[in-house]
Order: sequence, then C-alpha cells, then structure tokens
Amino acid sequence: MSDCIFCKIVAGDLPCDRVYEDEHVIAFNDMHPQAPHHILVIPKTHVAGVNDFSDEQQLLLGAIVLAAKKIAAQLSVAEDGYRLVMNCNGHGGQTVFHTHMHFLAGRQMLWPPG
Ligand code: AMP
Ligand code: ZN
Repeated sequence: MSDCIFCKIVAGDLPCDRVYEDEHVIAFNDMHPQAPHHILVIPKTHVAGVNDFSDEQQLLLGAIVLAAKKIAAQLSVAEDGYRLVMNCNGHGGQTVFHTHMHFLAGRQMLWPPG
C-alpha cells in the first residue's frame, strides 16, 4: 500500500532499526520505546488490522507470534518474560493501520494497562 509507512519500511523506502526478519515478517525497534526492549513485529504483506485477517492468513498470524518467541530468545528475555500487544482500531489505541505486534520486555509490566 503506497501511503502506508510500514509498507515503506518493508520495501526499504523508509529506514528502520531491524532486529529480526524472515519470509513472512520483519521486526524493528519502535521509535518511541515504552520499555527497554520495544519492538514491532509486522507482516510483510499489508493487512490493516486484526479485523482484516482472513482464515487463509492463519499461518501469517502465527508467524508474527513465532517471530516474537524467537526475538525473546535472541534478546535472552524469554525466561524473565515479555508482553505482546496488538492494538485494534480506536478503543485499542491503534495509530498505524498496518498490523503490528508490540513486543515489550526488560521491565516489569503492569496490569491492567492504561
Ligand atoms: P499503535 O499505536 O499500536 O498503532 O502503534 C504504532 C507504533 O508505531 C507506535 O508505538 C509508534 O511509536 C510506532 N512507529 C510509528 N512509526 C514508526 C517508525 N517509522 N519506526 C518505528 N516505529 C514507528
Ligand atoms: Zn502497509
């Protein structure tokens, strides 16, 4: 999608601080980190949000979570723990409409979130 900033990152037209990449996803540091490790895991294909995933994209959704698991191991935070968040639409607080999973680690997370 030509006016999507995350599609531009996937295409290499916008820079990012990449921490992980495979066939299905790319992951990079969030520009406004909310934790010592704050990474966005995004599918390489444009899907606006969780509401837009089809049943046929089950593997792609799984790839996002599996990438997070690999990043946790890469950063040696798997044992301590981490938080995965996917914001959807207005009440979810989504601001970028290319699906992304927030990977947050390196500090104690609080519950409930704000
Ligand atoms: P959300 O509010 O869930 O849509 O999250 C969007 C996230 O994308 C925010 O945490 C932003 O800081 C982050 N973000 C937006 N543009 C960029 C970018 N070019 N590089 C890295 N992170 C970005
Ligand atoms: Zn996009």
